[in-house]
Amino acid sequence: MHTSFTRRSFLKCAAAATAASYAARVRPAWAGGVDRGSIAIHTPLTTFAYSDVELLDSPLKRQFEENHACFLHLDDDRLLKVFRQVADLPAPGEDMGGWYDLTGFSLERNDFHGFIAGHSFGQYLSALARAWAATGSEPTRAKVNRLVKGYAETLDPKAKFFVDYRLPAYTYDKLSCGLIDAHEFANDPLAMEVHEKLTRAMVAYLPEKALSRQEQRSRPHKETSYTWDETYTLPENLFLAYQRSGKTFYRDLAKKYLEDDTYFNPLAQGNNVLPFEHAYSHVNAFSSAMQAYITLGSEKHLRAATNGFDMLVKTQSFVTGGWGPDEAFGEPGRGQLGDSLSSTHASFETPCGAYGHFKITRYLLRVTKDAKYGDSMERVLYNTILGAWPVQADGTSFYYSDYATTGKKVWYGQKWPCCSGTFPQLAADYHVSTYLRASDGVYVNLFTPSKLSWSDNGGRYGLQQETRYPFSPQVTVRVSGSKPKEYTLYFRIPVWSGPDPVLSVNGNRVSDPVQPGTFASVRRTWKDGDRVELELPLSLRLETVDANHPNLVALMHGPLVLLAVADSQPSFESNELLRAKPAHNATGDWQATAADGSSVTMRPFMNIDKESYSTYILLKS
Ligand SMILES: [Zn+2]
Repeated sequence: MHTSFTRRSFLKCAAAATAASYAARVRPAWAGGVDRGSIAIHTPLTTFAYSDVELLDSPLKRQFEENHACFLHLDDDRLLKVFRQVADLPAPGEDMGGWYDLTGFSLERNDFHGFIAGHSFGQYLSALARAWAATGSEPTRAKVNRLVKGYAETLDPKAKFFVDYRLPAYTYDKLSCGLIDAHEFANDPLAMEVHEKLTRAMVAYLPEKALSRQEQRSRPHKETSYTWDETYTLPENLFLAYQRSGKTFYRDLAKKYLEDDTYFNPLAQGNNVLPFEHAYSHVNAFSSAMQAYITLGSEKHLRAATNGFDMLVKTQSFVTGGWGPDEAFGEPGRGQLGDSLSSTHASFETPCGAYGHFKITRYLLRVTKDAKYGDSMERVLYNTILGAWPVQADGTSFYYSDYATTGKKVWYGQKWPCCSGTFPQLAADYHVSTYLRASDGVYVNLFTPSKLSWSDNGGRYGLQQETRYPFSPQVTVRVSGSKPKEYTLYFRIPVWSGPDPVLSVNGNRVSDPVQPGTFASVRRTWKDGDRVELELPLSLRLETVDANHPNLVALMHGPLVLLAVADSQPSFESNELLRAKPAHNATGDWQATAADGSSVTMRPFMNIDKESYSTYILLKS
């Protein structure tokens, strides 16, 4: 953990570094120097720098710090071991174990030891680079530099690590992300050069285009029957590599791997082609479509992402915002979500799914300014990822959320799975998901204790948010500024807000209507010490699992799903549930009481530990 002194000195450096980086980005091509890739669309909203936001005491801060500490303390030799082994270099240190090692995989024995060697190295590198950007922790930057240098030493011009490798696109995509993030966020001097060497070598291991799973089944890998690579997720990081390096090679490669024929073209035309696809990687692919829109100006890809996300929410999502039982999408209208409650405990691939969900909702929010994407992000935040157990030092990880009739939290069976890679990336991204920047002001998207600071025309401005939301309806925002300045503050008013949300400035209620499902705005000359208060009435309501199972409902309070703590699924009348009373305790419990006097504790997922629970309750008919 860093001291406040370190943070203050870092903020000074960060302000200078951000200004330098911004100057490089907006410099026109004719000005010479670094040629940054051009962006076709400047989105109406942009993210702040990681260093502009400080998370204050909250579950989000705790998750970020747990992830940061876990990967900061993970031994470099262990992380680099598989790459050194293939390169015939001395490879000291313990094996990582689980998915990460070189050998031992057997699909027949369902033995995932050595499933995809080194698959998550790039994600840990990316997470550390983002954590450095957010905190200015020098040990973190030093580790990023050591890992990039250590990896570079193992990389030959043909990237022989990938000879007969099970999932080359899958692991390359994560290495690509880690290296461009080490360059962009930690100013690593080697990362972009290593990235180019790797990418030029990878071309030999990748197919000529993005392959759907159907297409992959028709051309199995020569060494193994495992053929599910994820070429269709490559474009997002390749477009970012183009924007960060200016090299058109990356842009052209990105275009080649857009899964147009079987995915984006039908989605853009409104055809729901999600059923039977692998859930997380196909939501992750929406972010590639968004980068095609941002980088190339392709309206078709924006339509594909917008339509695809809409289909995800309307036809594939549980009340928690999670989706894809058994990691697959089902056919709409057949009651597949309700049926899954009695057929599987693998209801939602939580860290990966939440990471993909945060990215696509952030992109769509930046482009459309539509509050519904913030609402969706928030639902996933409070009901899925904030309830995930932290990654352990030995790689033991949380993977699936369980929405079965009677569910339980469990650890995943194999160490260092995919979800150990996305969790620290997502936790770092809480910084860039809370506030967004507009040309005329600031959007407050998530309600969580935090501080935002930014510079504009020589002035220094800030917001400090205090709240216990979603356990309290009140949000207070204190404004600071080195001088008075006119700008607009936008606050997301969730669509589920009860009647009459209240927004006031310095104790005076804002006269414009505050409409649920929109961003409410206040434009004025803000002065140091101004105070905004927002009260979002938290409504108690029921939501069904799907239209085919109208008797399976979840109780919701504001954005929170309240799960029944019970060893078997309880049964209630709907009005009994809607009369539930808060217990006013530390775990945010509610108490639902039936007419016969029997009572069940209702608890948010984020406060559930080892106890059995039911996400959905059976309505008495
Ligand atoms: Zn995963």
